[in-house]
Amino acid sequence: MSGPDLGGRVALVTGASRGIGRAIALALAAAGADVIVNYHREAAAAEAAADAVRGLGRRALALGADVADAAAVTAMAAQAEATLGAIDILVNNAGIALRRSPEALTEAEFARTVAVNLTGAFLCIQQVLPGMRRRRWGRIVNISSGAARGAGVIGVHYNASKAGLEGLTRGYAARLAGEGVTVNAVAPSLIETDMLAEGREALARRVPLGRLGRPEEVAEAVLLVAANAYMTGQTVQVNGGMHFT
Ligand code: NAP
Repeated sequence: MSGPDLGGRVALVTGASRGIGRAIALALAAAGADVIVNYHREAAAAEAAADAVRGLGRRALALGADVADAAAVTAMAAQAEATLGAIDILVNNAGIALRRSPEALTEAEFARTVAVNLTGAFLCIQQVLPGMRRRRWGRIVNISSGAARGAGVIGVHYNASKAGLEGLTRGYAARLAGEGVTVNAVAPSLIETDMLAEGREALARRVPLGRLGRPEEVAEAVLLVAANAYMTGQTVQVNGGMHFT
């Protein structure tokens, strides 16, 4: 059996300069898609990721934008479409994870986390949705977390932002099901990236599989839902067996 075929599709992956987003960009490119590599601050890393996409024979464009900034997201979408064409696949992967105890967490940190992890996804969806509906084809994949259900290691602000993202996923999925646009979430836990800088060995011991996950393993789940026309409103957990809900 050959892998998913996304030939001729254009994908926007937010936060694709590093970690899980970079792996998703490369997996989409390997399946045939051209890719916009969004980043916030790490321009050189984003250019390197775009070069890696080109190395797979696809077109790529690195575009900086803070996904929480509506004007920046609008400008990014316009430049992306002018350069690579209409966006068929949106992966809302950009996220921040400030580790805070409930007592230490400030209102500003709560607001910023929700702005990036949840409002950022909404802003990107609003940009691509009219075109997807017109063409009656679209795939939206939101990168959630096991923290949408469990406590996790980050904090309540992160729990709230990811639970909200899954509500957003189901809300759009229900409204778009008849229009060829699917909306799903992929919820990883404990994946080896910069986000997990501290205490990796102790964290790995919590995972029934006995190790942290790899970004490529999350990307495989994204590809699965991006290639499937009959699956919508779902959350696919990629968590080494940590829970089965
Ligand atoms: P990471 O290695 O820290 O990378 C984060 C990415 O998001 C970077 O590309 C960063 O861009 C980008 N980003 C951050 N803030 C942004 C903003 N305001 N606008 C645009 N881009 C922004 O994180 P990761 O582990 O790959 O995480 C990716 C996603 O998976 C996140 O949504 C995270 O919550 C989720 N997740 C991760 C884990 C895990 O164990 N790692 C578990 C569950 C869920 P720059 O490089 O320019 O800073």
